[in-house]
Amino acid sequence: MKVLVLGSGAREHAMCWSLANSPLISKLICAPGNPGIAEEAQCINININNNDEIISLALKEKVDLVIPGPEIPLVNGIIDELHKVNIRAFGPSKEASKLEGSKKFTKNICKLANIPTAESEVFTNRDEAIKYIKKNKLPIVIKADGLAAGKGVVIAQNEEEAITAIDNSFNGFFGEAGKTILIEEYLEGVEASFFALCDGVTAIPLANAQDHKRVGDGDTGPNTGGMGAFSPTPNLTESVNNNIIDDIIIPTLIEMDKRGSPFQGILYAGLMLTKDGPKLIEYNVRFGDPECQVILTRIKSNLFEAILAAVDHTLEKFHLRFYDEVALTIVMASNGYPGKYKTHSIIKGIADANNIKGIKVFHAGTTLDSEKNIVSNGGRVLSVTANAKNIEEARVLAYKAIDYIKWDDGFYRKDIGKTSS
Ligand code: AMP
Repeated sequence: MKVLVLGSGAREHAMCWSLANSPLISKLICAPGNPGIAEEAQCINININNNDEIISLALKEKVDLVIPGPEIPLVNGIIDELHKVNIRAFGPSKEASKLEGSKKFTKNICKLANIPTAESEVFTNRDEAIKYIKKNKLPIVIKADGLAAGKGVVIAQNEEEAITAIDNSFNGFFGEAGKTILIEEYLEGVEASFFALCDGVTAIPLANAQDHKRVGDGDTGPNTGGMGAFSPTPNLTESVNNNIIDDIIIPTLIEMDKRGSPFQGILYAGLMLTKDGPKLIEYNVRFGDPECQVILTRIKSNLFEAILAAVDHTLEKFHLRFYDEVALTIVMASNGYPGKYKTHSIIKGIADANNIKGIKVFHAGTTLDSEKNIVSNGGRVLSVTANAKNIEEARVLAYKAIDYIKWDDGFYRKDIGKTSS
């Protein structure tokens, strides 16, 4: 089969690296890809936020299956568009992608299916939102309804912060995505991520993971796309995993199916493990980055066969196997990230790091300069991933690999795998 992966980050590098092993794939294409992905797939530069460009490429290359990495093509309805031209695709329809694209939509599903989540209300009016803040407990959480590149959530410690967050959202900070807001009860606990592979009816647990969102050691500084992750997380015991499947994932699939929008693809639940049990914070409708890197390096089964089983609605019979090893990834980012940073600084030593047994360096934001040097080309640049017997060994191994990477303009957290959030 000819397969087209969409995306250009470390998540898509891990996906291509994992798919490239499959004897069922005759040609693997990634659009637009990056220099790391180019070692696994043919990279073709198109704008994947434009459905027409994706469809043209898929038709021209006669691909049999398309696998989108990021959420934007999914929320843009690429799966529906591909089906219209008879190309199979792995991922949710435009309607089912609302589980990520609209927090209001997800809250409604939670209400209908009795899924544990934070109490919340939806507002499109400033005065009513402020009235609600004044009569509820602090801290309180203000969320833009739509996609806001991970920046649409504010945990307000006092009324003033809450009002500023409401004003910012209604004043267009997040464009249309913030014209509707949710105000939500603050949940206390430890966060974890849970991933399920879904075929519309059946969900099989892919693995769980924990990421490090803050930029600084000891969980300080602003939120980022993720500075590191490890899998599995000791916070999710088998019984908690079962609660998540039974009380959160399956009721969601049943409710979506009932509405005529069955969910096929990766369902990624962001959870708060509270004293009353796991509660859903949000859904994403694709792999997380950097969680993808730690999950896919642990999968023993053929990833492509698992994806085909989801596309063909035969997951019930699929047995997904994992290595017992722990995986841990450390993100190397450009100095200044998540704020302003410079690009095009030379990175050396990636091949040396990759030569260490148990190490795989995934490219997140790299490109080649005119002399074919690998240079930085984004905020998050590399994802150095280690697999080892336990988390301690994986951490030591990953930091050892980082020592081989020579990059003057980059930084990384020194405590990945050590903190609980
Ligand atoms: P979200 O985009 O909804 O995942 O929110 C981003 C981050 O904000 C989460 O990963 C949590 O750290 C935090 N967060 C969101 N909602 C809540 C909540 N109700 N209570 C506490 N923290 C929250």
